[in-house]
Amino acid sequence: MFQIKWIWENMKGYRKRYILALCMSVIGQIMYLTNPIFGQRIVDTFIYNDRAAENLAGGKKLLIMLCGGMIVFTLVRTVFQFSANMLYEVCSQGMLSKIRNYLFANVQKQDMTFYDRSSTGDIMTRLSGDLDMVRHSVAWIIKTLLESIVLFTTSTVYFFVLDPIMALCLLALTPLIFIISGIFRKDVGPKYVDLRERLSKLNTAAQENISGNRVVRAFAREDYEIDRFREKNTEYNEANKTASLTWLKYFPYIETTAQGLTVVQLIAGGIFVITGRLTMGEYVAFSGLIWSLSNPMRNVGALINDLQRFMASAAKIVEVYYSRPFIVDRVDAKEMPERLKGDVEFKNVSFSYDGTPVLKDVSFKIKAGETVAVMGETGSGKTTLVNLIPRLYDPKRGEVLVDGVNVRFIKLETLRRNIGMAMQDVLLWSDTIDGNIAFGDSDMSEEDVHKFAHAADADDFIVNLSDGYDTIVGERGVGLSGGQKQRISLARALAVRPAILILDDTTSAVDLETEKHIQENLAALDFKCTKIIIAQRISSAKDADKIIILKGGKISEMGTHEELLKNENGYYSEIYRLQQGSIE
Ligand code: ADP
Repeated sequence: MFQIKWIWENMKGYRKRYILALCMSVIGQIMYLTNPIFGQRIVDTFIYNDRAAENLAGGKKLLIMLCGGMIVFTLVRTVFQFSANMLYEVCSQGMLSKIRNYLFANVQKQDMTFYDRSSTGDIMTRLSGDLDMVRHSVAWIIKTLLESIVLFTTSTVYFFVLDPIMALCLLALTPLIFIISGIFRKDVGPKYVDLRERLSKLNTAAQENISGNRVVRAFAREDYEIDRFREKNTEYNEANKTASLTWLKYFPYIETTAQGLTVVQLIAGGIFVITGRLTMGEYVAFSGLIWSLSNPMRNVGALINDLQRFMASAAKIVEVYYSRPFIVDRVDAKEMPERLKGDVEFKNVSFSYDGTPVLKDVSFKIKAGETVAVMGETGSGKTTLVNLIPRLYDPKRGEVLVDGVNVRFIKLETLRRNIGMAMQDVLLWSDTIDGNIAFGDSDMSEEDVHKFAHAADADDFIVNLSDGYDTIVGERGVGLSGGQKQRISLARALAVRPAILILDDTTSAVDLETEKHIQENLAALDFKCTKIIIAQRISSAKDADKIIILKGGKISEMGTHEELLKNENGYYSEIYRLQQGSIE
């Protein structure tokens, strides 16, 4: 059975108010009994009574009290219901905000494998639509369910007190409601699970399309994409209709049963009044409260619909809520200095994504301060290799060591704070250039930001932008060229003064002249730093202390430029010959 403990956990701070609201709902429903009780008394004493006139003459005070009581209880009930609704709203909104914060924080902590599995659109659906369904359940479903149960139960008890036989006649119809609603629940449940999946697909399509709109435009695929979205939207719409309309199949049975109550009340009640089993007042009380049995019956459809929708959403939220990263700090983590030296070693490292081997028995050593270039064909495992250093993934076999310590034993924060990465797929925030460069340390001085921009050879173009360092770059760096984005990303990686700098194809889009400047600047940094540079060009690699060539996840060549050139049939020599023109 599905857990709701997490909802209760997040009601902390609101629990008392929520329970108070539930109590008010219960009392409010019980108060519905007062009018029929008082009404019955009025009818039996002052209307259908042989001595009605006498009673009226002598009991004016009682009549006024009964009428006044009806008005007062109605008013009190309205106040209770109003206050309870306010409390439901406050509590459910407060809970929603807490869960959303928690979920966001939890999503942030997940491993890369979590992101490999889930699409942004799906995570966004969980953080928005699904969460709102949970709020709706706390504010409406639970309240309506409780109110229906209380109303149904109290009026049943009251009916039994009035006349057990009449009460049994009415209750004879209720098993039908349970049977019909049980079948309906089984029928509609999977439809809401399907609907939820389609909503996620729709959101994913929209999100991918909007963030990739440049590609869509470049390939003139707008019409195709619009059709694809329309198709997904139609599917969602159809699923929505199917789920919502399912109730219509069951509605006639429920409605007939609910109407059946009135028929039973008329026939059985009529007979009982004629035979003298019921007084007229009691009959009026039955007929005045018959809705308290039929209304909960009529609510069954809406309640089951919402409950199933809630179940589908909650199941999705729970997946993220209880998802725990595997890559975490170990309790026996070693105490390391805040600033690491920057020695890196791979010892017989193998890695696979979901069983597909990508790195096979990779071993090498890099001394602190050295520059190492990693080259190889696309898909040979270069990015995977560098991702193992900051533990974005953990190797399946072997060890990655930094300063002689297996990275699994270094606190993640210490490890990652010592590593500056400029990734292949440059992602800039919708923020100023200054804010983007200072991402790793928001207190960074303007002077430092400029210094690192200069080191990345970005200062010249930044000062020529309309707002200089205050220029806002669009989402993913819209408005900048590929080479400009790469240089800002390099400045951002340098700005944390890392002990280990990892550049994944970071200068592929800059011209050779700029690349040369960058290399000179990197060689003259005012802090000691190991540099691991994934490169396609010989020009980026030739001056490195060591060049590693990966082939199909294995190291096929390793050495300096001169050493590798000696192997004339090697990958490096081949690339060298191909690129010779541009190098010269
Ligand atoms: P390179 O950087 O040399 O181009 P990668 O390390 O990016 O190579 O990829 C090596 C192999 O691993 C490729 O076959 C690629 O398809 C696969 N791969 C990369 N990332 C993932 C991932 N997140 N999930 C599954 N397979 C992946």
